Amino acid sequence: MRNDELLALDRAHVWHPYGPMPGRTDPLVVASASGVRLRLAEAAEGRDELIDGMSSWWSAIHGYNHPVLNEAVRGQLDRMSHVMFGGLTHEPAVRLAARLVEITPEPLRHVFLSDSGSVAVEVAVKMCLQHWRSVGRPGKQRLLTWRGGYHGDTWQPMSVCDPQGGMHELWSGVLQQQVFVDAPPVAYEESYAELLRTEIARHADELAAVIVEPVVQGAGGMRFHDPAYLKVLREACDEHDVLLVFDEIATGFGRTGTLFAADQAGVSPDVMCVGKALTGGYLSMAATLCTSRVADGISRGEVPVLAHGPTFMGNPLASAVALASIDLLLSRDWAVDVKRIEAGLRDGLAPVADLPGVKDVRVRGAIGVVQLDHDVDMAAATRAAVRAGVWLRPFRDLIYTMPPYVTGDEDLARICAGVHAAAAAG
Ligand SMILES: *Cc1c(COP(=O)(O)O)cnc(C)c1O
Repeated sequence: MRNDELLALDRAHVWHPYGPMPGRTDPLVVASASGVRLRLAEAAEGRDELIDGMSSWWSAIHGYNHPVLNEAVRGQLDRMSHVMFGGLTHEPAVRLAARLVEITPEPLRHVFLSDSGSVAVEVAVKMCLQHWRSVGRPGKQRLLTWRGGYHGDTWQPMSVCDPQGGMHELWSGVLQQQVFVDAPPVAYEESYAELLRTEIARHADELAAVIVEPVVQGAGGMRFHDPAYLKVLREACDEHDVLLVFDEIATGFGRTGTLFAADQAGVSPDVMCVGKALTGGYLSMAATLCTSRVADGISRGEVPVLAHGPTFMGNPLASAVALASIDLLLSRDWAVDVKRIEAGLRDGLAPVADLPGVKDVRVRGAIGVVQLDHDVDMAAATRAAVRAGVWLRPFRDLIYTMPPYVTGDEDLARICAGVHAAAAAG
């Protein structure tokens, strides 16, 4: 198909993330991708190839078109691409679940596989509410979270996303009213820890769970915080009979420097969600893990089952590639790569702080963030990055990058130059 034909059809019929209908800006057409490069169907700003600074929203940690992951999909494709999971089971899903139990904090023992992060969060919330209902405390059905979070775009996740200035503000009157506390400060402050304790204690009778993104808040504002707050949450939740949910959909699989962000606090949640990098960016899959306490609670109820069962639950292709992606990650010195990228981002992004209009530059693990003192001019910033040969997707007042772990030093320097150019233009 010719590029202009494709774009005309795209604009007329195809919804894009957070986009209007019909579309108002032309997306770039990608013809193929391999390693850390996206190849464009038609050159833009003089570039027919872009270095990927986004890992396709945190997911493509090994880069694109990886021979090991390709082989995992092909091998599974020849056996079966899908069978229903009700009444049937298969090796890829079982091995994946066992692997997830093995690599996540010890008390997490049971795995619910689903198709996307938002659904994994829905399932996490359902598990928590049902646990309390089953053990005779049906009044515990609200959630507490801190501001600045992001947990997905379906209804329950939207209710715990940042309620102000975020993409879901429109629905504030419709969504279930959750308990919000201020966003966590970057560094540890005892007064904030005390606020967390007080609010959890005050609402304990109505709280099913506290849900947070540990260490890094992603799409709600790309904010970082001291892992010590997670310990505070754990202790307060234990003291007041509230479950603790960690949404590791963005932070999981090494992005913040440890395999899971929760590892930095040495605490374990009752329920944990993973997604995004789970399949190395190949296929849509997410998982919700829980402890035996949560599962046992549900089993003791009047309705002793978890009534959730996506059509494509445990999809064999996604399971096989997820397993291969985890093995590939753990077979390499991934932590060294994440550290190297962290150092490269620190060096490369430091000069961006001197640009006018830049409010903050911060780096944590393989995540680099430039915050402006105004909303980014998305079109101008994206164009400037593309001109520099880099793919970035800024939002709100943020230009950020989380490159694939396989990004080499030279490409990383170019990504930093791309961020610099975007910040100067946007
Ligand atoms: C992306 C994300 C989600 C939602 O995942 P989808 O697969 O887009 O539904 C939930 N929580 C966090 C922390 C995320 O980053």
